Amino acid sequence: MKDCIFCKIINKEIPSEIVYEDEKVIAFNDINPAAPIHILVVPKKHIETLIDISDEDSSIIAHIYQTINKIAIERKFANNGFRVIANCGKDSGQEVMHIHFHVLGGKKLGDKIV
Ligand code: AMP
Ligand code: ZN
Repeated sequence: MKDCIFCKIINKEIPSEIVYEDEKVIAFNDINPAAPIHILVVPKKHIETLIDISDEDSSIIAHIYQTINKIAIERKFANNGFRVIANCGKDSGQEVMHIHFHVLGGKKLGDKIV
């Protein structure tokens, strides 16, 4: 999608620190990390918000969680644990309108909201 920063990262029009990539997803380091480990896992399909996920996208979403586990095992933070956050829409403060899953870890994380 034109003017989408994550589509530009997917298309290699702007650089990123890629952690993992396959035909369905890309994962890269967040430019403004909130924890020692802060990776964004992003489907290559442009989906604006979580509410726009359709039935036909279910395999993509499953693949995202499989990818998160693969990265956590490979990068050796699976045992210590981590947090996955996905913002949706205005009240969540979603800034980039292409769905993405924040994977946070590498330290004891702060207070939970839920
Ligand atoms: P959200 O508030 O859930 O939409 O999160 C968007 C995230 O994208 C923020 O944590 C930003 O730091 C991150 N971000 C924005 N631009 C880039 C970029 N060019 N490379 C990596 N991360 C980015
Ligand atoms: Zn996009």
